[in-house]
Amino acid sequence: MQVPAQFEYDRATTVDEAVTLLSRAGPDARVVAGGHSLIPMMKLRLAQPERLIDINDVTELAGISLEGDELRIGALARHAELLESPVAAEHFPIMRDAERVIADPIVRNRGTIGGSVCQADPSEDLSAVFSAIRATGVIRGPGGERTVAMREFHVGPYETVVADGELLTELRVPIRPGGGSAYEKVERRVGDWAVAAAGAIIWLDGSGDDVTVADVGIGLTAVGADHFVSAEAEDFLRGRPATEENLRQAGQVAAEHCNPIVDQRGPADYKRHLAAELTTRALRRAMARATGQEA
Ligand SMILES: Cc1cc2nc3c(=O)[nH]c(=O)nc-3n(C[C@H](O)[C@H](O)[C@H](O)COP(=O)(O)OP(=O)(O)OC[C@H]3O[C@@H](n4cnc5c(N)ncnc54)[C@H](O)[C@@H]3O)c2cc1C
Repeated sequence: MQVPAQFEYDRATTVDEAVTLLSRAGPDARVVAGGHSLIPMMKLRLAQPERLIDINDVTELAGISLEGDELRIGALARHAELLESPVAAEHFPIMRDAERVIADPIVRNRGTIGGSVCQADPSEDLSAVFSAIRATGVIRGPGGERTVAMREFHVGPYETVVADGELLTELRVPIRPGGGSAYEKVERRVGDWAVAAAGAIIWLDGSGDDVTVADVGIGLTAVGADHFVSAEAEDFLRGRPATEENLRQAGQVAAEHCNPIVDQRGPADYKRHLAAELTTRALRRAMARATGQEA
């Protein structure tokens, strides 16, 4: 039987209390949210925090809401809430696409959005989603609040900019009208982590045969893309005609600039091939949604 090492346990009821507890405990403390990533790591002794700060009673961290021209997702919102959120689906169908293929209902009912992005697993689907759509993370610590672009949030595998004593409180996503978004994933079996996945958001200019890509965001999962994005494919596509040929070419650019590793989920060449194909599919579907051809 796998058993975690001994640890102390505190339950916070407010963000201020969580930050105070975290600051007091120092580098050996960890936040526990859904526990779906942290507890298995503790059982395997890959993580051995001396103190856990449980944030499940911090109600101010929960919920998904529209505030002006931003979608706000509390760090404690569960995967299942995001999957079922009408407001998220209306503005960012990419979130619903991704949530449909994350794990299973047991994990989705308990696992949190904040826990997902803070875990910083290179195969985490939502990290690519939030990077593609240019979300911002709100971080609270003893010195107050700061915001960090999701494209700068992950500093490496299992590492983020959230420092000791700090807590991610919220994700904010700017809503720009007229866009379409989508997420495409290949996994070995239902509910598994991605072999590779890609997410895209796109805005178009013009009409008829004269449509160009006004702006685009492209996220990649599990293929070693810097900060989960393909800036090169975005730069290639921005300002070009929104043709099938250019969407395919953008997929190729994304594949050329990622860095997949060989592991139990497949060889690097296969993952690179998937990066190209899934980027093109995500762009195609995002475009269909931007032009009202698909919900
Ligand atoms: C069987 C299984 C299958 C899965 N499949 C997938 C999949 O297909 N795709 C996918 O993307 N994910 C998958 N996951 C991962 C799942 O999405 C995450 O485990 C989960 O959502 C993490 O959230 P949590 O609330 O459980 O985090 P926890 O386990 O509680 O925490 C994870 C890490 O984040 C830190 N943390 C949590 N919240 C905060 C916060 N607010 N501020 C600062 N740090 C914080 C913790 O200290 C810890 O280091 C799977 C997990 C399991 C168990």
